[in-house]
Amino acid sequence: MEITVEPKSREDLRRLAFSIRKVLGLEDELYFPIVELLDVLEETLPGFSYEIIGDGELPPGKHAETDVETGMVRIKQCVYDGARQGNGRDRMTIAHEFAHFMTLCFVGFKLYRSFDDRPVEAYRDPEWQAKCLAGELLVPHHLVGGMTAWDVAEKCGVSEPAARYQLKKR
Ligand SMILES: [Zn+2]
Repeated sequence: MEITVEPKSREDLRRLAFSIRKVLGLEDELYFPIVELLDVLEETLPGFSYEIIGDGELPPGKHAETDVETGMVRIKQCVYDGARQGNGRDRMTIAHEFAHFMTLCFVGFKLYRSFDDRPVEAYRDPEWQAKCLAGELLVPHHLVGGMTAWDVAEKCGVSEPAARYQLKKR
């Protein structure tokens, strides 16, 4: 059984990312301080909470997770520490979980369960939506025109592959 969600385009999620930045007064900033914002988000976003867990509490290869029933994001200590030190991959991991919270818990894109084996279309796939929104949140589309991937990686605090990916999605 696959879970699918309301279809959302990159344009929709780009607008959502911009609204989130605007609410936080960060619409003109290249660097989105996702990890520094966790406490603020917990205080201001109804239903959002997070906890830092031991590195052994999630299976290897899994860095964080979001409980869509409770709105709780759980982040491995090593990922949290890495993100605090500015590691792009760890920052993206946290943005990804926050994106799951936003799309599934806060904005409440409707969940559909499909009982057949049809593959999930990208726009209805919660993983695609989280990946898309996280990328749009950390790499603000309206500010990175004309920048190189190296500059985007440096100024937005993302990995170079993530920077290149976002620049391609223009
Ligand atoms: Zn995910």
